Amino acid sequence: MDDVDYTGFWNATLTQLRNDLGEEEFGGWFTDLKYLRSGENLIVIGVPSTFHRDKVKARYQNAIRASLKKLAGTDIVLEFEIVGAGKAEESPSAPQTAVKNNGHTGQKKENPPSGAPDKAVQGEKPKKGKHPNLRDDYTFDNYIMGENNKFAVMVSRGISDKPGINYNPCLIYGGVGLGKTHLMQAIGNQIHETRDYKIIYTTAENFLNEFVQSIKENKPNAFKNKFRYTDVLLIDDIHFFQEKEGIQEELFHTYNTLLSAKKQLVFTCDRPITELKKFSERLLSRFAEGINVDLRPPQYEERCAILKLTAENRGANISDEVIDVISKSISSNVRDLKSALNILIAYSELMGQPITVEIARQRLRDTFVSSRQANLSIETIQRVAADYFGLTIKDLTGKKRTQNVVFPRQLAMYVAREMTDFSTTEIGQAFGGRDHTTVMHSIEKIKGQFLTDPTLDSTIENLKRLVKEFSAKA
Ligand code: ADP
Ligand code: MG
Repeated sequence: MDDVDYTGFWNATLTQLRNDLGEEEFGGWFTDLKYLRSGENLIVIGVPSTFHRDKVKARYQNAIRASLKKLAGTDIVLEFEIVGAGKAEESPSAPQTAVKNNGHTGQKKENPPSGAPDKAVQGEKPKKGKHPNLRDDYTFDNYIMGENNKFAVMVSRGISDKPGINYNPCLIYGGVGLGKTHLMQAIGNQIHETRDYKIIYTTAENFLNEFVQSIKENKPNAFKNKFRYTDVLLIDDIHFFQEKEGIQEELFHTYNTLLSAKKQLVFTCDRPITELKKFSERLLSRFAEGINVDLRPPQYEERCAILKLTAENRGANISDEVIDVISKSISSNVRDLKSALNILIAYSELMGQPITVEIARQRLRDTFVSSRQANLSIETIQRVAADYFGLTIKDLTGKKRTQNVVFPRQLAMYVAREMTDFSTTEIGQAFGGRDHTTVMHSIEKIKGQFLTDPTLDSTIENLKRLVKEFSAKA
């Protein structure tokens, strides 16, 4: 506690967020932020505009705080100061924005999407170089394969061997942080390396934004030309298109054009397509025509392998004991798993201490329970259900199969599905890394019991009321 200087924490947080959000999203919001100063438990960040500040606050404040808390071990308040549009301020950390040449509407009005495709980056490219919209570390080499994802990985490799031929279209689905984006980008990177193909990677959100922009600027053809003339189209997180009819229509046409030209399409989604809400039937049936592969939470061995690989890539020396501690405490989300390790590495670098099992335990405690900031978390439901039935959350998320645990567990899953927008994949993750079929089965079980158990209805109503009360207080 000498002088307060949280620069290190801030930088580590940025590294973390870049890892979590991906280059594109990160670049859109974080490269223009500027660390100004720290005070006691306080960090002041410069933002270019009120708009920018409000967006960052609304979308990322919780994530930033959570990350800072993990690093500092205490709550750190964030303050924002508008530092005017004097963007970049000759800051030495401006390169990412400069490299981006296409595929990104962003907030910046200065460089309108000119017609010129891919190659206009910079003159000096000895070999092929990195694809502008793909992370170069999202490769097959960096992707650990296990029972949980074997089929998905094989299919993905098959696609990169013969794009447009073998598995087309392909939809990869699975819960948050299970490696969808990584796998999809690995397909893109592999094709990029081996062929002279035009490859577009975009998030569903960006696809929509570009579409809206093209209409605003009265240039519908620019949008069509971009997305309908490509060899490979990768669209990430298509659950974002739920309830958005206009863009579904546009996607449908893009889809048909590309598929009939035998161009490769790959999509990711956080749930099986049968659980997409407000999605056009014809689009759903298109998705169903292709191959659908799922990613499940990794087993202990795979988790260890992922951590080892991450440590190796970061040049950090982590003992097997520490790997074991992390692998055992985080089981259902690879992103959290890697985050935990990254935080430990950052911590040890900042403190100049090696990571011991004790430090790992202490840092991990409580910090990775719930990283989600939805209004109503599954954890809240678990908390309330556990209390209601005189159990612990561990009972609900654990493996015990005695009837006094199984029924409350199924009921909690049912209520989670009813009260939140979480998909069965996400609910499964929150319940100790179960897969979505287990959740679906549980829900069916409960539905079946309505017929035979006249009190079930009021049990569920009670539970829901308690959940609402609990979350109102929180
Ligand atoms: P999703 O898109 O499903 O939310 P991501 O693809 O962003 O998940 O993955 C989250 C993090 O976990 C990334 O850092 C990614 O590299 C890592 N990851 C996920 N699965 C694996 C795996 N099988 N091997 C190595 N890293 C993985
Ligand atoms: Mg993703």
